[in-house]
Amino acid sequence: MDFSYSPEAEAFRNEVREWLAENMKELPEWWGNPDTAGPDPDSKEYRQFNSWWHRKLYDAGFVGIAWPKEYGGRGATIMEQVIFNEEMAKHRAPAGVGGIGVGWAGPTIIVAGTEEQKRRFLPKILTGEEVWAQCFSEPQAGSDLANLQTRAVEDGDEFVINGQKIWTGGALEADWAILLARTDPDAPKHRGISYFLLDMHAQGVTTRPFKWMTGEASHCEVFFDDVRIPRSLMVGELNQGFYVAMGTLEFERSSLGETIGRENIIQDLIKIMKKMERNGQPLSEDPVIRQKLAQSYIETNILKYMGLRSLTRQLRGDRSGPEANMSFVLAGESIQRLQDFAMQVLGPYSQLGKGSKHAIEHGRWLRSYLASRGIPTIGGGTVEIKRNIIAQRVLGLPRSY
Ligand SMILES: Cc1cc2nc3c(=O)[nH]c(=O)nc-3n(C[C@H](O)[C@H](O)[C@H](O)COP(=O)(O)OP(=O)(O)OC[C@H]3O[C@@H](n4cnc5c(N)ncnc54)[C@H](O)[C@@H]3O)c2cc1C
Repeated sequence: MDFSYSPEAEAFRNEVREWLAENMKELPEWWGNPDTAGPDPDSKEYRQFNSWWHRKLYDAGFVGIAWPKEYGGRGATIMEQVIFNEEMAKHRAPAGVGGIGVGWAGPTIIVAGTEEQKRRFLPKILTGEEVWAQCFSEPQAGSDLANLQTRAVEDGDEFVINGQKIWTGGALEADWAILLARTDPDAPKHRGISYFLLDMHAQGVTTRPFKWMTGEASHCEVFFDDVRIPRSLMVGELNQGFYVAMGTLEFERSSLGETIGRENIIQDLIKIMKKMERNGQPLSEDPVIRQKLAQSYIETNILKYMGLRSLTRQLRGDRSGPEANMSFVLAGESIQRLQDFAMQVLGPYSQLGKGSKHAIEHGRWLRSYLASRGIPTIGGGTVEIKRNIIAQRVLGLPRSY
C-alpha cells in the first residue's frame, strides 16, 4: 500500500496552497478568529461574503475542478478535487456558495441532463450567480422518498405542480431547485416520479423558513400552487425521476477529504485542554478525557482510510457501492461523539451561546454540538436506513420493508 501522491498531484497541491496563503490575507478579520464574533451564517452579510469568496475561487479555476472544460469546469480528475478539499480544510478556508449546485445538481445535469440544460445551467452554477436548493423530502416522504405526493400534471408543453416539500436547505436565497414530483399516480410508487429543474422565483412558489435548534432559519417548507414548469426542464425520462435522484444522492453522500475538519476540531480541543483546569489539574492530564480524545482520533483515522479506499474505487471508474454507507454511519455517529466530548471538555461553559460574555469562541461549540444532531445522522438519509442497506446489500439479509 502506497499512500503517497504523484508528482503532478503534489504540484497541484502546491498551487492550491500558494493561492490560499496569498488570498486568505483578504478575508475579514473575524474569519477564523475565536475572539471576534462574525455575522450569523444565515445573515445577508454572511451570504455576500460567501459570494465574494466563491467568485475568487471560481476566477482561480477552483470551482468544478472535475467538471468538463466545455461547461466551464477545470477538466481535472477527482484526485485534484480531493486535494483541493483537503487543502481548503487544512487552511480552514470558507467554502463559497456552491453547496447543492456544485455538489449535487450540477453533477446530475452533467450525467442525465440535455445539452440545452447543460449550456443553460452549468456555467452559472460554477460562477455562483445562481444558487440551488434540493426539493426532495416531504412531510410523509423522507426515508421513504418514493412515497412523495407532490403532483406534476402534464398540460401541453408544461407540467403544473401542486404540493409541499419540507427541509429544503437554503430555499430562501435559492434561484433554482432540483425537484421530484409524481407524474403517474397509478404506477408503482418508484416508477411514477419525474425529476425537474424548478425556478424558485416562479409564480406559485412560497417558502416558509423554520428555525433549527441552533437558532438559524436556513431550512424551509416550500409550497407549490399551480407552478408551471416547461417540459424542457425535466431531467431524464418521464416517470424515471426516482432513478435520476438516486444518482444525485450518491453525489450527496460522497464526502471525500472531509476528515481534516475533524482533525482541526481535535487540535482545537487539545489547545483548550492544555489551558483549562479542572480539580486543580489541566484537562490534558485528566485520564478519562485523554482516553476519549484518543478514541476520537482513532475513529478519524479509520474514516480517513475508508475515504482513501472509496477514492481508489472512484479513480478506477467504479461506483461507490453500498459499502459507502459504512463510512456514512461511522462519520455521522463519530462526529456526534466528538461534539459530545467537546461539551464535556468545556463543562458548564459549553452551555453559553453567542452573546454571552463568558461564552468560549462566541458559542461555537454549543452551535456545532446542536448542529451535529441533524445533517450527520439524518440529513443525507438516516443511519437506520443506512444500516438496513448494509444488512441487505452487503450482508445479504432479506429486505426489511
Ligand atoms: C438538517 C437536515 C437537513 C436536510 N436538508 C434537506 C434538503 O436540503 N432537501 C431535502 O429534500 N431534504 C432534506 N432533509 C430531509 C432528510 O432527507 C430527511 O429528514 C430524512 O430522509 C429522514 O426523513 P424524515 O425526516 O421524514 O424521517 P422518517 O423517514 O419519518 O424517519 C423517522 C425515524 O424512523 C426511522 N425509520 C424510517 N423508516 C425506517 C425503516 N424502514 N427501518 C428502520 N428505521 C426507519 C428513521 O431512521 C428515523 O429515525 C434534511 C433533514 C435534516 C435533518
